[in-house]
Amino acid sequence: MEAINDSLAMSPLHPCVECGKRVQKNSKAVQCESCDKWCHIRCGTRIDATTYEQMVEGNVDLFWFCRVAKKYIDLEIGMVILIALALGLYVRQM
Ligand SMILES: [Zn+2]
Ligand SMILES: [Zn+2]
Repeated sequence: MEAINDSLAMSPLHPCVECGKRVQKNSKAVQCESCDKWCHIRCGTRIDATTYEQMVEGNVDLFWFCRVAKKYIDLEIGMVILIALALGLYVRQM
């Protein structure tokens, strides 16, 4: 027997870890690799719209960690790791 988590069933959309507003399906938001919390990209993620779109299109692998996770894993710099060099994205943009 598996019980469905009531709170999950009630709110399929998750609150932004920074502003607390709901992350809508069409919101530009990223999910923390560590604790699965969501955050709007404009809420302090330092991810710009261009990068975000590349991520959505699958051109960029993006790993984002929320502030809590960042502290926990001691990742002060480089909270966003872009694996794009192999794809030549930066070369193309320059
Ligand atoms: Zn937000
Ligand atoms: Zn997190």
